[in-house]
Amino acid sequence: MPSLQSVISCLSDYDPGALPVAQANQIIGEVVEPVRGTEQVALRTAFDRVLAEDVISRLDVPAHDNAAMDGYAFASSELAAGGNVTLTVVGSAFAGAACEQAVARGQAARIMTGAIMPAGCDTVIPQEFVDVDVEGERIRFDAKAVRAGDNRRLRGEDLAIGQPALAAGRILQPADLGLLASLGVAEVKVRRRLRVAFFSTGDELRSIGEPLDAGCVYDSNRYTLHGMLRRLNVDLIDMGVVPDDPAALEAALRSACENADAVITSGGVSVGEADYTKQIMAQLGDVTFWKIAMRPGRPMAFGRIASHGREALLFGLPGNPVAVMVTFYHFVRAALHRQMGAKVAPLPLMRVRSAQAIRKKPGRTEYQRGILAPAPEGGWQVSITGQQGSGVLRSMSEANCFIVLGHEQGMVAAGDEVEVMLFDGLM
Ligand code: AMP
Ligand code: MG
Repeated sequence: MPSLQSVISCLSDYDPGALPVAQANQIIGEVVEPVRGTEQVALRTAFDRVLAEDVISRLDVPAHDNAAMDGYAFASSELAAGGNVTLTVVGSAFAGAACEQAVARGQAARIMTGAIMPAGCDTVIPQEFVDVDVEGERIRFDAKAVRAGDNRRLRGEDLAIGQPALAAGRILQPADLGLLASLGVAEVKVRRRLRVAFFSTGDELRSIGEPLDAGCVYDSNRYTLHGMLRRLNVDLIDMGVVPDDPAALEAALRSACENADAVITSGGVSVGEADYTKQIMAQLGDVTFWKIAMRPGRPMAFGRIASHGREALLFGLPGNPVAVMVTFYHFVRAALHRQMGAKVAPLPLMRVRSAQAIRKKPGRTEYQRGILAPAPEGGWQVSITGQQGSGVLRSMSEANCFIVLGHEQGMVAAGDEVEVMLFDGLM
């Protein structure tokens, strides 16, 4: 893995005291490498896991040309004369059973959806366009009702032999399980599951069930982190609350590092923080402390720590509950995807009208919590959820999107377009 120093020394305009979001992500992206372990798992178990190698199709799917509709199969040359086409029905083809009878000139075969096209046939006329005589032996239809090749699925049109069906790095979705099943694949090789340890720091934190002394708050960050990490389908090691005590912090970081691929902490990384978190993190490895040009979520520690020959990525997130979520989604999520070997396309940003004016200073990226809803005049509009303080977790709970106000963006007037990132797909 490249060291932080080697990555940072390549940047000409690096300023850890006002680091743009994009540059922080660039540095993280260059430092993080995928874990190597893989395992072979049954298809259902592979759901939501990261495919470790390309899956090449060993079959044509479908295996034969077949009917896409219930109707009658015939040769398209019958359509050449135009007008009414009259054909003699010489056999039937059902799904799973081929038609025994060859279909010659002037003939057709009754066919069901999915049945193999009989020899000599390339077109299916759906049954609703056909007049059938009383005995069911002759059919008649207008040549204009169908074109050559209609209602026929071609062999290999879904997947062709030798073609990559799914690429390594894919996080397997419901459709992918079905696709693999259609190829007869019973097991796939996936990356081993990532282990992520996390804990909260701060003497003011109390765990649920403990009495809340004056000046104390319940630790909520471990719960939001639990939820966010569960969505990433990683193995969790919840290490509880660690007090602002050097020995306890060092023991917690070492244990986390020895047992996990990545360690996430919250709290204790602000400038002028009267605790030991930063000091101990720096002692245990290659860790840098940033003030990121963003709101919320300015302070963040990132790097790698080591203990007894084991290494782990470290994300020291800010303490404020909204800042934890924002920094998780905009830095940690992509880094963990990378570490688990997943290739995930960036989430789309959509442009919609802002229902109100939003105060914004250029020179930092802001992630306001928004509610995207249908606009009275049609289309969609976004409004901010009341209080946007970085401690107001309700703003995240009420929101259904981030309003992403880019680094250069200034004030937003009511009616201006802004970019939003939907929580659906993110969470
Ligand atoms: P810090 O970054 O440690 O200075 O924390 C900033 C603010 O976030 C303080 O008001 C803390 O009380 C609060 N905070 C820190 N950690 C947590 C947590 N785990 N749960 C809830 N609030 C927290
Ligand atoms: Mg603190």
